[in-house]
Amino acid sequence: MTYPYVIAGTGAAGLSLAFYLAQTSLRNQKILLIDKNLKNQNDRTWCFWQKKTSPFEEIIFRKWQKIAFFSRFLEKTLDIAPYHYKMIRGIDFYLYTQNFIQKNSDFEFLQAEIYQMQENSDEVILQTSQGEIKARYVFNGLWQLPQNFERKKGYFYWFQHFKGWFLKTQETKFEADKMYYMDFRVPQKEREVRFGYVLPFSSQEALVEFTVFSNHLLGSQEYLTELQNYTENILGLQNYEISETEFGVIPMFDEPFLSQKSQRIIPIGTRAGAAKASTGFAFDRIQRQTHFIAENLAKSGKAILPKEKPLYHLYDSALLNVIEHNRMSSERVFSILFAKHPIQRIFRFLDEESNWYEDVQIMNAMPWKPFLQAIFENWKNRS
Ligand SMILES: Cc1cc2nc3c(=O)[nH]c(=O)nc-3n(C[C@H](O)[C@H](O)[C@H](O)COP(=O)(O)OP(=O)(O)OC[C@H]3O[C@@H](n4cnc5c(N)ncnc54)[C@H](O)[C@@H]3O)c2cc1C
Repeated sequence: MTYPYVIAGTGAAGLSLAFYLAQTSLRNQKILLIDKNLKNQNDRTWCFWQKKTSPFEEIIFRKWQKIAFFSRFLEKTLDIAPYHYKMIRGIDFYLYTQNFIQKNSDFEFLQAEIYQMQENSDEVILQTSQGEIKARYVFNGLWQLPQNFERKKGYFYWFQHFKGWFLKTQETKFEADKMYYMDFRVPQKEREVRFGYVLPFSSQEALVEFTVFSNHLLGSQEYLTELQNYTENILGLQNYEISETEFGVIPMFDEPFLSQKSQRIIPIGTRAGAAKASTGFAFDRIQRQTHFIAENLAKSGKAILPKEKPLYHLYDSALLNVIEHNRMSSERVFSILFAKHPIQRIFRFLDEESNWYEDVQIMNAMPWKPFLQAIFENWKNRS
């Protein structure tokens, strides 16, 4: 048989797409979801800010309305209402969406590794560890960090990479209602962004992370040394027990090199450029992207990705250029941003929902020269 649609990869994007499709008129179609993993492990946690209620509200693990920013230039606690900063555990998301899809649709799940996809004028043929599978269209959410890839001149291939500990302290050490969003008190390096990040679950439990944005990864010992330094010397935690660790690498590429769309294979999720180049945030963007695809597919039968917003690409690339070429330190850039603007405006800007007046306000508060130089250089290198 030929499936009308196959969803390749049941990570955040594949499961989200199926979750939204299961709420449309396509719920009775034979849609096949394939992943090499069963997705029954807590392999990550997702955080995102949000004003409205999430479709996953009942599995939100924690949410905060106070966030703190620290640098040599600024220390500030911000009330982010009407937003919440929310956290979902991977395992809760996988189980919740799998259960919802099984109850509300005729979609099928298959555990198999996909080796190859070949497209002809009528269909896509997938070679998998469970044999050959045919589909009219494939939504491709397969993602693994590429080891080697071609880097085009004038583009930035950065990563958000981080190591974290879920830890418990003996004494009361955290304010449970306040998370640390960016803590620049960690030792800084030129041409990178380095900060601490704390998500408290109670006065004695938290996820503490050391995060870097840069164009290269670190050796494993350096993450450990920096995380330990942040935990013990900056947060002042001495008696603590680690229950789980988290390590992650998220692409912050401003060239969406994997997202090239073919007629019948449609990229989704990270593969479709969902991770924002200037922040690495992807989860909420994946929700918006897959919800859009599902709605349009049900209405018109067409698989369409949401339109790109070129102006925000320009801003993201300018920021990466400014930091990579050391035109300004990242600590200064983010301190200006947090000092001069209400957090709600920053969230709208990062969500690519700000209006032109807000964009001008944000640009206007930054020193013009480094950003204009960056925009000009990016344009020159790409033309
Ligand atoms: C540890 C970690 C923490 C993160 N935290 C946040 C956060 O707090 N906020 C945020 O906005 N973003 C976060 N991200 C970034 C992003 O939201 C996640 O990476 C998200 O899971 C991306 O979704 P995806 O569907 O594109 O890829 P994935 O969720 O990685 O899914 C890809 C799927 O493809 C499958 N696959 C790959 N190759 C094959 C193959 N050959 N055959 C079959 N299956 C295959 C994999 O098993 C996997 O299930 C985080 C990323 C990581 C790694």
